[in-house]
Amino acid sequence: MATRDFDAIIIGAGIIGAALALGLARKGWRTLNVDRLPAAGYGSTSGSCAIIRPYYSTVDGSALAYESHFYWKAWADFVGVADERGLARYVDCGCLVMKTEGNRHLAHIAAIMDEIGCPYEDLSPDDVRARLPIVTLDSFAPPKRPEDPDFGRPNGRTLAGALFFPTGGYVTDPQLASHNLQRAAEAKGAVFRFRTAVTDIVKEGGRAAGVVLESGEMIRAPVVVNVAGPHSFKINRMAGVEAGMKIRTRALRHEVCHVPAPGGFDFEHRGCVYSDNDIAVYMRPEHGNHILIGSED
Ligand SMILES: Cc1cc2nc3c(=O)[nH]c(=O)nc-3n(C[C@H](O)[C@H](O)[C@H](O)COP(=O)(O)OP(=O)(O)OC[C@H]3O[C@@H](n4cnc5c(N)ncnc54)[C@H](O)[C@@H]3O)c2cc1C
Repeated sequence: MATRDFDAIIIGAGIIGAALALGLARKGWRTLNVDRLPAAGYGSTSGSCAIIRPYYSTVDGSALAYESHFYWKAWADFVGVADERGLARYVDCGCLVMKTEGNRHLAHIAAIMDEIGCPYEDLSPDDVRARLPIVTLDSFAPPKRPEDPDFGRPNGRTLAGALFFPTGGYVTDPQLASHNLQRAAEAKGAVFRFRTAVTDIVKEGGRAAGVVLESGEMIRAPVVVNVAGPHSFKINRMAGVEAGMKIRTRALRHEVCHVPAPGGFDFEHRGCVYSDNDIAVYMRPEHGNHILIGSED
């Protein structure tokens, strides 16, 4: 493979690497994604609950996330090509976030939403009960592990209500969404190589100039992008840049479980994304009237 075959090498083909390939390919860049797994989105993306929410702790992060809602809603148009495996589906059921002492009743989030013009509803405790009758407004803080004798015991206080964000929901199959992006990028000339691990970064003149693969093959490009997910810190180490970084990455174990919804409530169709900092848990509807529950990091 000759030098300058590619304008950018993208390490990783998760949802981020595949989206980046599409974005660059649409701008005319010749990109190569290299991923050690067999297909796009097989890394942490495939284990994701794929919740799409507009509220983050910074204005920029929230604005970016809010904008993404509109791309997900018009996914077929955004992807713009057929995928032999079909298209991922976005369920825009909205997100309900409980106001807790821990999140200071979401005052900071509400201010960000006002700044970026993202709609939300301020719900009283009764509004929350009407929207999600399976939810209790009792407070259980601080979050405890199941083996704690006080697990599941209310602390006597009640939660103050919630904010509801209509521009949110979840993607039913994030691995498929990555594949959709791969196909769209390929239609613009992007190249993907799977089952190919990067083992070193070529450095020249104080910057990355290519990658070395486990086979020993070297591929050069003027731009190398590290979107290797939870293990991206290993790539940063290969490049010798980790020490100077203000924000570092590390792999974390993240628990998610899948349980039936309480009898008598159609959570799959009447539920929404739910986030409760009081017990450090979030959940979303899952098919078969199930609930996908995750722990906050
Ligand atoms: C259980 C769980 C639930 C989550 N829920 C949500 C959620 O509801 N909403 C949300 O927004 N986010 C959620 N996330 C986070 C979300 O999944 C990630 O932020 C996102 O998938 C990251 O995508 P990525 O492309 O950066 O990483 P990944 O999907 O991990 O892709 C990185 C790729 O890099 C490849 N790679 C790594 N090292 C090398 C190497 N040396 N050589 C070649 N390839 C390499 C890997 O094989 C992998 O395919 C969740 C994560 C988990 C684990």
